[in-house]
Amino acid sequence: MPAPKLLLHPADPGTAAVPEDRLAQELQAIGLIAGRKSLENAVFYPVGEHFLQLVTFLGCSPAIELDAPDDPQELESASATGRFCHIFIDTGERLRFRGDSQTRPPRCPVCRSPEPGWKAGLQSWQAGKHEPAWTCRNCGFSGHISDLVFRKTAGFSRTFLEIRGIYPAEAVPGPALLETLAALTGNSWTSIYLRE
Ligand SMILES: [Zn+2]
Repeated sequence: MPAPKLLLHPADPGTAAVPEDRLAQELQAIGLIAGRKSLENAVFYPVGEHFLQLVTFLGCSPAIELDAPDDPQELESASATGRFCHIFIDTGERLRFRGDSQTRPPRCPVCRSPEPGWKAGLQSWQAGKHEPAWTCRNCGFSGHISDLVFRKTAGFSRTFLEIRGIYPAEAVPGPALLETLAALTGNSWTSIYLRE
């Protein structure tokens, strides 16, 4: 069962990567995350003391689980399925795409017409097969594949802050968290929801 996730990333795909230690330090300072913990093949950050002030849960959210299970085996499966809220920092020098498998076709940034052939273009860019140029069939605009507009289910970035255990539109990042992130990169961040 895939995990529901809220991902935050700089809205501009040209933004340089934020090193993990720098991002972690800032997020620990505001209380979004606590100290690093290990899984079998990854590390994560449990929620910090101000998590619920920095991430706004909408409506009447049923029990929000914030504590990691103590039992190591249970922890692995609870993390894989997003049974509790915890955070991952996914950052690197390479521009990457992350999106929900059910993502609808993105739109041209100029004329807003949908691009039905986006998956083939994306796969070919990911495989490094050709220049990532893309041309709109409707208006003729030509740009990088990361110029396509994906709404709230996919995005391009070098740095993703992943909050696992949040369902689509169940919670949104609060202003203080967005300000901290914007100060790190000098530009605004956006959020997407997906299952992976
Ligand atoms: Zn167009």
